[in-house]
Amino acid sequence: MVTIEPIILGFEGTAHTASVAVVRGDQIIVHKAATYVPAHGGIHPREASEFLAKQFPILLKQIITELPFKLQKIDAIAFSQGPGLGPCLRITATIARAISLLLNRPLIGVNHCIAHVELGRIITPAEDPMVLYVSGGNTQLITFLNGRYRVLGETLDIAIGNALDSLGRKLGLPHPGGPNIEYAAKKGHKLLPLPYTIKGMSFSFSGVVTAAQKLISKHNLEDICYSFQEYTFAALAEATERALSCTRKSSILLTGGVAANMRLQEMIEEVATEQAANFYAVPKNLAGDNGVMIALTGVKMFEKNDYISVEQSLVKPRWRTDQVEVKWIK
Ligand code: AMP
Ligand code: MG
Repeated sequence: MVTIEPIILGFEGTAHTASVAVVRGDQIIVHKAATYVPAHGGIHPREASEFLAKQFPILLKQIITELPFKLQKIDAIAFSQGPGLGPCLRITATIARAISLLLNRPLIGVNHCIAHVELGRIITPAEDPMVLYVSGGNTQLITFLNGRYRVLGETLDIAIGNALDSLGRKLGLPHPGGPNIEYAAKKGHKLLPLPYTIKGMSFSFSGVVTAAQKLISKHNLEDICYSFQEYTFAALAEATERALSCTRKSSILLTGGVAANMRLQEMIEEVATEQAANFYAVPKNLAGDNGVMIALTGVKMFEKNDYISVEQSLVKPRWRTDQVEVKWIK
């Protein structure tokens, strides 16, 4: 029997990244992305949304040019419906609705956090992993149980990526702080005292940013970056280990933009080894926000006729991972 793989167009636009991709089944056909970098300070929601509004038509034109078939071949349009910044989500939803109406193809509302997880399950050998999802806007320990992705632990305040970026700004490093802190941390060796917060399987990062900021006049930048990574990543590793030992999952999957960090990968891999589990990380080029993950999740939802009407396509800025009924996993 010949199986026909669905062709899905995916739009990601929850915060800083405008990205469009076309996939056929598990295969990436075309992928384009553009990322907003604030002139100063953190991400400004209105500025980021204006960036997305400008970039989506450009990216879409590139996609159409490079696509080896006509856009009419697409079976459905998937978009990141939430969670994320309201103004950004509205731009993304508007373009997805317009293309859906233009091509007369169904619309699929994808949960952004779940898309990071699904991508990892597709492109790594992880089948039913304990997921540590670490990004600019979210930090969660997620695993699948009884029809839903359950959140076992999460940040009680800001995400780890946000914490790294805001410390980076305080240290005068360029945006985004995450990769620059990783680079500086490699030259640090003195472990400075910082608060270590873990509550059950949840963690908190805003206090440690403030505490690290107070060290700036007394210590060198490399030692501050090194210490900050050691403390915050150790909290993530401890919570991951607890979650893994409770659930006895046989693998850990690291996903989200901060998954690119080699020190974090090293620590989480150690946890996996201790617990006799396999360790997988999403490759660096797809760790951060991207349209591929939205399109790939769209394929799974399409196969279950999990569509929404334009009327149901209102954005969901606070849409939680565990609110989604996952129809595509048995
Ligand atoms: P996302 O929101 O998933 O696109 O991830 C963006 C976040 O990933 C930002 O906060 C970045 O600072 C962070 N990030 C990217 N590369 C690294 C890295 N090598 N180490 C730590 N954080 C990183
Ligand atoms: Mg993300």
